[in-house]
Amino acid sequence: MTELNFSSLPLAEPLQRALTVKGYTQPSPIQARAIPVLLEGRDLLACAQTGTGKTAAFALPILHRIAGLNRKPERGTVRTLILTPTRELAGQVADSFHAYGGNVKFRIGLVHGGVSQHPQVRALQNGLDVLVATPGRLLDLMEQGRADLSGISCFVLDEADRMLDMGFINDIRRIAKKLPAARQTLFFSATMGPEISKLAATLLREPAEIRIDPQVTTAEKIDQSVLFVQQNDKHALLLDLLGSRMKDNRGELNLIFSRTKHGARKLAEKLNRAGIRTDAIHGNKSQAARLKTLDRFREGRTPVLVATDVAARGIDVRNITLVVNYDLPMEADSYVHRIGRTARAGASGRAVSFCSGDELNLLRSVERLIKQTVRVDEDHDHHSEAVAARHREGDRGGRDPTRKPRAGRTGRGRSFSGPRGKPRFRGRRRPRAAGA
Ligand code: AMP
Repeated sequence: MTELNFSSLPLAEPLQRALTVKGYTQPSPIQARAIPVLLEGRDLLACAQTGTGKTAAFALPILHRIAGLNRKPERGTVRTLILTPTRELAGQVADSFHAYGGNVKFRIGLVHGGVSQHPQVRALQNGLDVLVATPGRLLDLMEQGRADLSGISCFVLDEADRMLDMGFINDIRRIAKKLPAARQTLFFSATMGPEISKLAATLLREPAEIRIDPQVTTAEKIDQSVLFVQQNDKHALLLDLLGSRMKDNRGELNLIFSRTKHGARKLAEKLNRAGIRTDAIHGNKSQAARLKTLDRFREGRTPVLVATDVAARGIDVRNITLVVNYDLPMEADSYVHRIGRTARAGASGRAVSFCSGDELNLLRSVERLIKQTVRVDEDHDHHSEAVAARHREGDRGGRDPTRKPRAGRTGRGRSFSGPRGKPRFRGRRRPRAAGA
């Protein structure tokens, strides 16, 4: 956090009041850097993940401008467009606008699939200060001639890398083509691969660039560990881990990531059969069902949620203190997104990754991306020495010549990325069964 206070930023008084009520005093680093730039009207390219306070970083300057205009949008026009990859995230962005803009008169509308388009069309006809949309439904309405974006003066692309992962790149290009060239554009992404940079270059004009390094957010607040386990033992390992947490549960929530929808569903069924209240959230569920599931989770009625990467986007639930990667993600940057679901807003959290022999290469990609080794936790009943041995071999560079040996490694192949000493979920050391 910086020394700066919100009161020293030139934000309109109604916004300052709302921030005080919310209890925010200091802007987060991205807010401290982005808000002055955005108030000047400049474009912005921001590399920052969820949990950094990026929503307020764009919502506050946008609301500031609306407050200054002090007049309603004209019928059928939209002033600001915010594109998000998922419905959940769209809803959360709109909630943030309501929270920060509670003392400002403004009209906001949501456009996404999975619900009737009629109320959305009506809102567009009335005119909107802010439209939060997912790309598919918005394009649909544009093609029907029901969404006119020619009056947009500010365009925000949120979680651009996730949009690309979800195959929205062409939709984004088609939408951007319909926007006026004279506009302010804000581009947010957790990662900045070549494809993202290319897209950013086509949309932005001399942007200010801000990078909030994921290393800081992942390393400092989240206790990360990897558990080597045979694929067949993962379920038993998860039961041990959750079982011990359920015993003295104080409203803490657990988010489990599965690579496939089918896997998520099956896992939730198995956990329920074992007496652990669990729900699953994945793309096959309707919007209403997903929201209900999220509410139950948020309230702690189902303290365990199994999710796929896509469905978990934008889940902003405060009490998640454990994230389990039941399967390691195929793409390393998903790891950063996943574990970013815990340790929200300054709280601490724990991220545990189950890694089978087939996933060792995925673990290496993750470590290369986050630029640190993940601590190996052997202290559980399902530790696989066979997988651990393969991991050690790989570490010597035999399999992966691109990887440099790291400082801070100790004997027996263990690596330490941070302080140890977090309570273990099993007090007892596993028996070391060769080849287990
Ligand atoms: P975001 O990265 O936008 O998803 O925000 C992460 C969380 O931090 C949200 O729950 C916000 O309500 C909270 N938050 C954002 N800005 C601040 C701030 N300046 N002080 C305290 N909490 C904040």
